[in-house]
Amino acid sequence: MSGIFGVVSQTDCRNDLFYGTDYHSHLGTQFAGLAVWHDTILRKIHDIRGSQFKAKFFEDYRKMNGKMGIGVISVKDEQPICIHSKFGPFAIVINGFIENAQELARQLYKEGQSFSEVTEGKVNLTELVAKLIIRGESIVDGIERMYTKISGSCSLLLLSREGIYAARDRCGYTPLIIGQRETDWAVATESSSFLNLGFAIKKYIQPGEIVILNEKGLETKRKGRRMNKICSFLWIYTGFPASSYEGINVETVREKCGGYLARHDSVKADMACGIPDSGTAHAIGYAMRSGIPFRRPLVKYTPGFDRSYTPPSQETRDFIAKMKLIPIPEIIKGKRIVFCDDSIVRGTQLKNYTVHKLRECGAKEIHLRIACPPLMFPCRFGYSTRTTHELAARKAIRSLEGKDIEDVRVYISEDSTQHKKMVGWITKDLGVTTLKYQRLSDMIEAIGLPREDLCLYCWTGNTGRK
Ligand code: SF4
Repeated sequence: MSGIFGVVSQTDCRNDLFYGTDYHSHLGTQFAGLAVWHDTILRKIHDIRGSQFKAKFFEDYRKMNGKMGIGVISVKDEQPICIHSKFGPFAIVINGFIENAQELARQLYKEGQSFSEVTEGKVNLTELVAKLIIRGESIVDGIERMYTKISGSCSLLLLSREGIYAARDRCGYTPLIIGQRETDWAVATESSSFLNLGFAIKKYIQPGEIVILNEKGLETKRKGRRMNKICSFLWIYTGFPASSYEGINVETVREKCGGYLARHDSVKADMACGIPDSGTAHAIGYAMRSGIPFRRPLVKYTPGFDRSYTPPSQETRDFIAKMKLIPIPEIIKGKRIVFCDDSIVRGTQLKNYTVHKLRECGAKEIHLRIACPPLMFPCRFGYSTRTTHELAARKAIRSLEGKDIEDVRVYISEDSTQHKKMVGWITKDLGVTTLKYQRLSDMIEAIGLPREDLCLYCWTGNTGRK
């Protein structure tokens, strides 16, 4: 997942743009970019692998003055893309994933279009979106037509002479939120980016809705759709704790998740703790509900390490997982520990680093509690690069069945014998004393939106798309 941010100011926007974009640094790891409107478009892109957005852009942003700008922390592609079109020059950033990108690119090639950004034979998704938009009668028409062509998800910001167009993905997988500060406007993936810049949430853009922000204010160009399939994982792991989506704050959902885990649990323990940062709020919720004291047997050295979820290479993810957490033996030795985490993806980091570190430091018991049900399917909408094959639950099923099976419904069913066997296999594999997952209904209750308004594909394999 990428993070996108835009701002329209009555004066110079560069400080807001710089810090607002930087507040999305937890979402992407490959590239970052800024573009401002100053008679025409000024743009800068940097590779941010192994470095921080602020360090890379500090010199650039001070030269990028203008009243409107957009920025991105990109999980994969180089962005913003700048296009000189029949609509005039524009810059565009996207947050999403397009499943039929290569097919669409082939069609465009046939029509005589060309792409300037191609990596390992694959087109840049942002450039593809831009090329689809310019086929429209207007920018708004182009965005709408683009949505009818793509399969996947795409929220975008488009900086043009008239202002910043903001369009949220038609199924709403990714959020887009408008903030207001007197006569200034911002739009962001993460509403947490508004707080220290003085913006207040004005509106959650609806799925499929298109708005424009400019010096005259906010104008809706196309109304949204009733259908919503916002990513549930935003609340469980990917989102920033201070953010809210659809009016629901991330940290409070995580506390509820922990509380719901505790209400079905009777384990006796000396402390409840979480894997920082995303496991922490789940553990706080568990501690509040169970009365078991919250402690920190593992601490994160600095936020300087990337999240181990987002870097594309497994070696990088493993290295980060190993290095960023430091155990405190004085707190761990001889103790019964309830460990809360957001999810188990492959399980190897948990096993090789977290559990291993706790055991080495003399933990007596490790009771692992997971804030969501077992992950059965990798994200189809751009949140991760996992494959089905490597998911911990699938490894368990493969071992129990002696082969990969396609129909895993019986393992998803939380009260089935097969589900229990699968959890038992993962417990043994991780080397923990006990393991419990959140029930799907409890996770949905903790988020607080109707089930039909959430994407639950990771757990159910059902997109629920229309
Ligand atoms: S598949 Fe999972 S990670 Fe992807 S959008 Fe749906 S809930 Fe979110």
